[in-house]
Amino acid sequence: MPPSKIDAARQVVIVPNLQPTCKYRIVALDPSIVGADKKVLTAEIEIPNEQLSPGPRGYRVQVVDYDASRQILYKPAPQRESDSLKVPDNLEGDRAFHARNVYAIIMRVLARFERSLGRRVGWSFLGHQLTVAPHAFLDLNAYYSKEDRALFFGYYPGDDGNVFTCLSHEVIAHETTHALVDGLRPNYTYPSSADQAAFHEGFADIVALLSVLSLREVVSAALDLEISPKEELIRSTRLTEKALKEGVLLGLAQQVGEVMYGTHGVALRRSITLPSDPQSADSEQFKEPHRRGELLAAAVLGAFLKIWKKRIDQFGELEHGKVSRLGVVDGAVETADRLLTIVIRALDYCPPNDLLFGDFLSAMLTADYELYPDDSRYRYRDALREGFASFGFRPAARNMTQEEPGLWIGAADLPLIYKRTHHDSMGRNPDEVFRFLWENRVALRVNDDAYTKVEAVWPCYRVGSDGFFLHETVAVYSQQMKIAARELRALGLKKPSDMPPDLQFTIYGGGTLIFDESGRLKYNVRKRILSPKRQNPRLEYLWTYGGLNSKKSFAALHLERVVRHDITPADGGEPDAETEPAE
Ligand SMILES: [Zn+2]
Repeated sequence: MPPSKIDAARQVVIVPNLQPTCKYRIVALDPSIVGADKKVLTAEIEIPNEQLSPGPRGYRVQVVDYDASRQILYKPAPQRESDSLKVPDNLEGDRAFHARNVYAIIMRVLARFERSLGRRVGWSFLGHQLTVAPHAFLDLNAYYSKEDRALFFGYYPGDDGNVFTCLSHEVIAHETTHALVDGLRPNYTYPSSADQAAFHEGFADIVALLSVLSLREVVSAALDLEISPKEELIRSTRLTEKALKEGVLLGLAQQVGEVMYGTHGVALRRSITLPSDPQSADSEQFKEPHRRGELLAAAVLGAFLKIWKKRIDQFGELEHGKVSRLGVVDGAVETADRLLTIVIRALDYCPPNDLLFGDFLSAMLTADYELYPDDSRYRYRDALREGFASFGFRPAARNMTQEEPGLWIGAADLPLIYKRTHHDSMGRNPDEVFRFLWENRVALRVNDDAYTKVEAVWPCYRVGSDGFFLHETVAVYSQQMKIAARELRALGLKKPSDMPPDLQFTIYGGGTLIFDESGRLKYNVRKRILSPKRQNPRLEYLWTYGGLNSKKSFAALHLERVVRHDITPADGGEPDAETEPAE
């Protein structure tokens, strides 16, 4: 609706809807999932409200219905607020609904990131608006392209009509997550280690599944797809750990996986069924990036299941053999929502480059500890530590003398100089932060020979467990050095044995500085550029697997998944586990 104007014919003033949020009804999972009423399972979601142009085209998301395979630009439907809760009976043929569905889900993921991080979050490209093509090409694939500032969703003829990736909640949330994480942590697409190569895919799968599990209608329906969600009690035999895993988690992921066979969802399905094995982290079969990403997803989902089960057991039975559906659903939704906040907030507490799963675990633990020091009720952090340990991953921070193991070591004891920098300016100005960094380079162990740049300064506002605002400033700096292999030794690093001495490449370092509300440094999460402990294995990995001077696009990542048939074959055979091709 345009700004308020006078409807001349009726002589009344039309007031625009200025509510901060609005509601949309979306396809809960994908069109193959139907509820007890045999209709496609849908869910109502709340997203930021705005005055949309036809498309819908809004302040952050612009849906443009261009089909590159057919070279047709479809005209958008007129924009009507009243359509937002409508789901057509003919899902396949309603392009306007497809556009609304994809718009609403992307906005929900964006809003979820902004709520968790306590600030506005940009896409990874310059500019504010992400272009989204819901019917971009004839192919069962979807990907994020930074160069095009766009998300592309493909479609493909299936056995029962077309399969539209723009109707799969998981695929949309997954792709949106790529666009956001790449904006927050651009160095994570650089080749560095098996963990970093795996992180983007694993993280996007986690956000996708937790986004779905934080929808009340989905969890309620999926607990038992045969029974109406109006039934107030649910049989406790449906709530054993095994039944929950197979029923809701596995059930959801499996059906999504079947539709998106070969590109998405398959990873989810496999992640959930991975048996815990502390040897996994070091085993050869999990060196391949996509397989390794499943370990990350499995570790977080394991924590989800553990906490949810604990909560269900606490409710007790209302009637013999029966439990309150409301309590079970609340348990899932609240657990998924809290874990979603933890994983997203952890991005702020991660190092800016060369991420390892152990770093991500320490980041999650520390980020959550800062907001909720008392975790005694459901023990989220214990569940995460156990989830990661069950696949052989330990927190990167090994200081066991703290109240809780695995938190980043605080910077309070460092002899830092604050006198010559201005507190107010430090909260937003990269040059001011750089001055602080330079002044304290010895205490912070910042190498003064490397090219150093403060990449970002983010003021964040979060609500703490006491209800008060927690104001933090997150500043990110990067370091790089262009060197030849022969110089490695003089820098205290080890040259991979068969690397030619003339080979030129760049090594990276950097850190994330987290300041409290009075401008004091709380944490310095760093990757020291000349640390032999981390740089030697990284060089060895890059020299073995390729990618010393390259960066991968998401389109390439996803196409690789398809081209290389990185999927579990229908007959249950072993997927191939070849390594990344050298570049
Ligand atoms: Zn992906």
